[in-house]
Amino acid sequence: MTVPPLDRSTIWPYENGDPGEYHYARYGNPTQSAAERALGELEGGEALLFASGTGAGTAFVLAFLRPGATIALAEGAYYGTSVLFQELEAWGLRFVEFDQTGEPPGGADLIWLEAPSNPFLTMPDLEAAARSPAPVLVDATAATPVYLRALERGADYVLHSATKFLTGHHDVVLGAIVCRDPEDARRLKDSRGRTGIIATPDNAWLLQRGLLTLEVRMRRHTENAAAIAERLSGHEAVERVRYPGFGGLLSFDVAGGADAAKDVESGTREIVNATSLGGANSTLETRRRWEGERVPDNLVRLSVGLEPLEELWQDLNRALSR
Ligand code: PLP
Repeated sequence: MTVPPLDRSTIWPYENGDPGEYHYARYGNPTQSAAERALGELEGGEALLFASGTGAGTAFVLAFLRPGATIALAEGAYYGTSVLFQELEAWGLRFVEFDQTGEPPGGADLIWLEAPSNPFLTMPDLEAAARSPAPVLVDATAATPVYLRALERGADYVLHSATKFLTGHHDVVLGAIVCRDPEDARRLKDSRGRTGIIATPDNAWLLQRGLLTLEVRMRRHTENAAAIAERLSGHEAVERVRYPGFGGLLSFDVAGGADAAKDVESGTREIVNATSLGGANSTLETRRRWEGERVPDNLVRLSVGLEPLEELWQDLNRALSR
C-alpha cells in the first residue's frame, strides 16, 4: 500500500453549483480522510483527527459533555489530561480520580481510562468499566492498536496522542478519537468543524505513512523495552521498575533519591534527555519537574526507541553506574 498524495488545498470547486464532499478544509480534506480510514481500520471504528491529543480531548468534552458532568479519570493517567480537565472546570466540568485497575465509581457521566497509564504503567480493568452504565473512553496512546483494540473490549471511544507511537519520529503533533458508533463520529466531526480543532493535512499524511510501519516499530519497541526492563530490575542502582510487558514505555525509580535520578537523566549520551515518548529515538526524563508530588522524586520515565539494544543498555548502564 502507498500513501495517497498530499492535498494542501483549503478549498475545492463546487460541483454543479453545490458544495461537494470537500469544500472548505476546516470541515475535512481528502488527506485527512485517508489517514482517518487507515486508523479507523486498525481500531475497528471511525477515526477523526485533531490538532493534538489534548485538542482531541477538548473537542470530545465539548461535543459530548455538558456543564455539571463528571468524568471518572484513571488515577496516574497522563498529567496533562488532569490539567486539561482543571482548565475546563471553569466551564462546569467536574472530574474525580479512581484506581483504574478496579471498579469505576458510580454516578460518572464518562469513564476515562489510560492503557497503560503514563508514567505509572497500570492497565485498566476494561471489563469492570464496560459493566458501568457510563460511556468509556480509553486513551490508548502507549498501547497503540497493535496491543489493544479497546472498542472490541467494551470501550466506546479510543483516544490517541498520535504525536507519540502512531507517527513515531518526534516530528508531528497530532491527536485522534476513534468512535464505535458512527453517529458519535458524525457529531464529533460537526463539532470539530465548528470549533476548528483540526489537524493539518501534512500531519495527517505523516500519520498515514507512520501507520505503514507501526506494527514492526511496536514489535521492536517491545523487544528493546522488555529486555531493558528486565535488566533494570536486576540493577543495584534501581529500586523499582514499572513495565506492562508490551510497548516502548517504562518507568523506574533510581536508588539514592532525586539527585541520583537527575544524574541518570543527564548522564546518557544516546538516550535524549527530553520529554515526550514514542519516537524512534529513546528519550528519558524525571517526571517530578512536571507532575509535582504525585510522582516519586526519583522516578525516571524512559521511552525505549528503535536503537540497537546493546547500545541503549550500555548508555543507560553507564549513566546508572556513575
Ligand atoms: N495522552 C497521553 C497518554 C500522552 O502521553 C499525551 C502526551 O504526552 C497526551 C495524551 C497528550 O497529547 P498531545 O501532546 O499530542 O496533546
